[in-house]
Amino acid sequence: MPLIVQLLLFCLGLAFGSFLNVITLRYSPDRGFYHKEHFTGRSHCPHCHKILSWYELIPLASYMIQLGRCRVCQKRLTVQYPIVELTSGLMFLYIPLVIKNLFTFTGPNYAWYWGAASFIWIVAFLFLLAAFIIDIRHYVIPNSVNITLFAVSIIWIGIGIYMGAFSDVYKASFLKQFSAVFPSFSSIVLNHIFGAVVALLFFLALFIFSRGRAMGMGDVKLMGALGLLFGWPDIVPIMLLSFIIGAVVSVVLIASGKKKMTDKVPFGPFIVIATAIIFFFGAGLLSAYFGIIGL
Ligand SMILES: [Zn+2]
Repeated sequence: MPLIVQLLLFCLGLAFGSFLNVITLRYSPDRGFYHKEHFTGRSHCPHCHKILSWYELIPLASYMIQLGRCRVCQKRLTVQYPIVELTSGLMFLYIPLVIKNLFTFTGPNYAWYWGAASFIWIVAFLFLLAAFIIDIRHYVIPNSVNITLFAVSIIWIGIGIYMGAFSDVYKASFLKQFSAVFPSFSSIVLNHIFGAVVALLFFLALFIFSRGRAMGMGDVKLMGALGLLFGWPDIVPIMLLSFIIGAVVSVVLIASGKKKMTDKVPFGPFIVIATAIIFFFGAGLLSAYFGIIGL
């Protein structure tokens, strides 16, 4: 990719990250993700309510120049601002590269197909980032976010098949050659539906047996949407990894005294981190792992 395109993508990502901050910080569980008040009205300081000017709204730069404080009242601004902006910027930059390595697009429309596929996955990850932030802040994943992710998954399966993205089965899998370990259907649509059903039922069972203590219904729906997006068997390592990350983080939180055994820990962020790890590093990680255990 030319440097100028990379720079544009990164800046576009920063802008979307800034937008995502506004929506997720305005969100409250009594109204949906798409409530119009999340999208209208000028941004203001959460402490002194001063309306922010354009030069206080520049992603990353404003926060750094103001040393993380409001220019008027000098109170601290949440570190969520620069973290989410940077994360979104890097997503816009790196998702197209993963997509290019992973899926096959051939013919004269190659660039359009690559662009369309990257766009769909960027949208998916923006909503995953929203789920991550809102679950940490409110212990809930909005239905509207999960429904959007289901819709994005259906669009991806349809458009992906049309563009021939899955024509090389092993290349199109985040698990590469290791996907052959799992028996699967020859139909791409069936594999994606099966991934959704397995993820949904497995997490639903955990929800029921833990009486909602291990995770909430929001996590069950999120896992179902991801099962549809990633398909079978790619959803399997995402599920496993979310438990491993959840266990490690919970132990650290309890050991460091930040949480008590009885405290609630949102599970959504673990699912989102596991998804990102498999998306960005999936095949490489598995090769390293199987290399270590000597397979
Ligand atoms: Zn202020």
